[in-house]
Amino acid sequence: MSYEQLLDRITVDPGVCGGKPEGGTGVWPRLLEDPQALARVAVEALQVCHFNPATGEDGAADLCSRACYECLLSYRNQPDHPRLDRHAIRDYLLLLAQSTTARQAAGRTYEEQYAWLEERRDRSSSLEGEFLAYIRRTGRRLPDRAQYRPEQDAFAEADFFYEREGARGVCVFCDGPEHDEPGRQARDTLGRTTLEDLGYRVIMVRHDGSLEDQVQRNADVFGPGVS
Ligand SMILES: [Zn+2]
Repeated sequence: MSYEQLLDRITVDPGVCGGKPEGGTGVWPRLLEDPQALARVAVEALQVCHFNPATGEDGAADLCSRACYECLLSYRNQPDHPRLDRHAIRDYLLLLAQSTTARQAAGRTYEEQYAWLEERRDRSSSLEGEFLAYIRRTGRRLPDRAQYRPEQDAFAEADFFYEREGARGVCVFCDGPEHDEPGRQARDTLGRTTLEDLGYRVIMVRHDGSLEDQVQRNADVFGPGVS
């Protein structure tokens, strides 16, 4: 596969970036949501350029000095041929092949965002801590906020909140055993129904269910995770 075919595949075949195509979802959002996607693209690009994606070893030193029609050259990029050199991108692609992608929230890195949420979450709820640690351990998307009340009129404060582009956000409630008490349940339900009526998505994470199952069921919010 040539470099241009690779680019075409990245553009038209979301399979390269992992997962099945979903209606209207572009490639770039998927590259951001799947922490491994960019690394897979880099591995494929290294192979196209005759490099061993694990070691960087040149597999075509005697066949292709800088570029050939098997890798970077095509008739479309003829004017650029003198400037194309596969060796120029090798080290960068090797780095990318080892990378994972993480969304940076409010100028914070992934680890900074985790620490920021850890500080703000309800320290008395062990389930909140477990949820957050699980999200991080599996390389999923971290929440944008903790202890956030998106609507002053709705009597509900989300334990964690995810922004959504072009829609009201996602409210995550971590329900420990104290939420099973009947009076508490009624209040919880009222507040959360109000949020749903307003267009927010509500996800309840329960203490008596498997974290993995509950997170996996909402993979469109939390991401597919790193296996
Ligand atoms: Zn070549």
